[in-house]
This record gives sequence, structure tokens and C-alpha cells, in this order.
Amino acid sequence: MKNLLLSLLPPSDLKQLESHLKPARFEQHHVLFEADEQIRHVYFPTGAVISLVVTLSTGETIEAAMVGHDGVVGASAALDGKISLSRGIVQLSGEMIVCNLEALRSVALENPRLLALLVRHEQTVYAQAQQSAACFATHQVVARLSRWLLRARDLSGSDTLPFTQEYLAEMLGVRRTSVTVVAHTLQAAGLIKYARGKIQILDKDGLEDSACECYGTVKAQYEKLLGGSAR
Ligand SMILES: [Zn+2]
Repeated sequence: MKNLLLSLLPPSDLKQLESHLKPARFEQHHVLFEADEQIRHVYFPTGAVISLVVTLSTGETIEAAMVGHDGVVGASAALDGKISLSRGIVQLSGEMIVCNLEALRSVALENPRLLALLVRHEQTVYAQAQQSAACFATHQVVARLSRWLLRARDLSGSDTLPFTQEYLAEMLGVRRTSVTVVAHTLQAAGLIKYARGKIQILDKDGLEDSACECYGTVKAQYEKLLGGSAR
């Protein structure tokens, strides 16, 4: 299994779920669910990267958490959360294993290991959201963009990321002009190369030096809770 959570399940547990798991491909910007909407499926990304974003009445959005092959999207609904608290949007195209919500719930209720895993994963999403709040309030845009690109790189396994400046501004909750300035700064330092709608990471270690502590903090929290995460 190319999804960390599914790979952590013992074969006997996985067998119970198997008939309810279906692989499917999702394209960038596809909305999986809106905030306040009832969630009907649970998604285990194997290649796709998902953003959980909060939308304000003014139309602005900001990302609270990023989930990829080290996680699951919509599991809180399977744990009886019923509705989503954020919008789930495909940030990078790729495959996910889609699971029927009721099936996951009934298997999880009979299976303490699966239940514990899903609860621990929800904690990692919560940890990301609270880190994002602290990050937004305290850290410079250049550090936040570096952090964000590193996480996207870890989850996609690629140094080339197809993001427009508008999209980055939306995810970081800043003006597009701020993204232009910091992208230019990172490019001048030789850390990234920015061409129309595409970012190439040239120096991962340098980008880590430029990122705020939040990148390492979230990574450590995943490791603590799930025992190993990003590639
Ligand atoms: Zn930060």
C-alpha cells in the first residue's frame, strides 16, 4: 500500500476493508467536499495531495492542513463527525484510494487498532491546524512559503510543483504581490526557480534553512503519532 495509514494496518484488518477500497485519480483543484457538507467518502491519498482550507465570508481562503500519502481525508466523518469543518481540495493531481464511509466506520468500530490509528491521524491534522495558526500570526511570508513548499515536496515526492502565484497567495492567506516578492527572494538565493505557474526546488537544504520551525515541528508530530511520515 502506498498510503502510510493503510500500510500500518495488519493484513487481517486490511482484509476486512479491502472490498470497500477503490483507487481513483483526482485532478488539481477538484473539490472533494465543502465546509458544513456531509462527508460521504473517505480518501486515502497514494499520490494526490489535498489541502484542507478554511473559507471566509469575504471569499478569502487559507489552508489549515495538507494531507498526502501519510494520511487520510474525511476520517473524522467516519468517526461520527458527520460533517466537514473545512473544504477539501485537491492541491496536486494524483491517485487516492476511496473508501465508503459507512464501511470504514463499521470496520473501525469493531477494530480498536484501526480506530486508534484514525484518532491519532486526526490529532496530526489538528496539530497542523494549530501550527498554521501560530505560523500565520508570527512568521514571515518567506519562511511560511518555504515551509509550505517543503511539505508539498515531501508529499508529492517531486521537486517540480505546478503552483500559480494566485494559488500560493490563497493557501498562505497573503496578497499575490507578497508571493511575487518572496518567490523572487528565494529565486535570487538560488533555492527555487520560478517559471510561469511552476516552481522548481533547486536547493532543498537551503529551503529548510529558510523555512520557519513549523516545518520541522509538524514533521516531528507526524513521526511521534504515526511513526514515520513523509518521504
Ligand atoms: Zn511557521
